[in-house]
Amino acid sequence: MNNESIAAPRRLSADPFRPHGFKTLWRPLEAVVEPKILITPDAYADMLAITENAGADEIGWLGTVTELGSGRYLIDGIYMPAQDVHGATCELNEDGLGELFTELAMADENACSRMHFWGHVHPGNDTTPSPQDEAQMVSFNHNPWFIRGIFGRNGRAEFTFFDYKRGVRFNDVSWSIHVEPDESRRSKWAAEVGEKVKKIAPKYSLSFLSGEYPGFDDEDEQETGRHFGDRKHKKNWR
Ligand SMILES: [Zn+2]
Repeated sequence: MNNESIAAPRRLSADPFRPHGFKTLWRPLEAVVEPKILITPDAYADMLAITENAGADEIGWLGTVTELGSGRYLIDGIYMPAQDVHGATCELNEDGLGELFTELAMADENACSRMHFWGHVHPGNDTTPSPQDEAQMVSFNHNPWFIRGIFGRNGRAEFTFFDYKRGVRFNDVSWSIHVEPDESRRSKWAAEVGEKVKKIAPKYSLSFLSGEYPGFDDEDEQETGRHFGDRKHKKNWR
């Protein structure tokens, strides 16, 4: 076969491409799971104690978070950086953060990489973020995700989950205290359950074959005084 035998493509006329009436549809490539905040009893108590000691000021703290899967995030450690505060603001400064991270890097390097929570207490019980609270979150956006917690003085706590990776934020996500039994408690109760709980085979009676109530014969009824129904009803039941 030589080159001359290949026919040149026939040239047809073509109109210029032009925009049409667009109907854009979009959906996330993976399902977005709503995050749930869990808090260890120690972390909860630490945050409450800080709040008790905050006076009328806005005091802030950082926390370590463990991702448990299925959208569950466990706040399991509370750390306080040096900070400048007054009643209406709490500013995390570079020096305070630097100091905290240097200290932690020596004590628990793992904690630095899990520091994904910033919490602070508000003067009243209003946990609505201030413009500064919103601006602060920009400084955390190099993380794939980050949690902000705002705590009021009358029991209200509001968490916002920033999913920077997907570009989604979740306001006022659910939170609860999370208690996981430790190994010694697990083995103590496993032993006790093993020792004290006996499985028995369910007791069946074949009396229903003769038209009686299943699992219940006349003798039982007389001996125990239990009644499934009155005897008249029992007769009518057939
Ligand atoms: Zn605030």
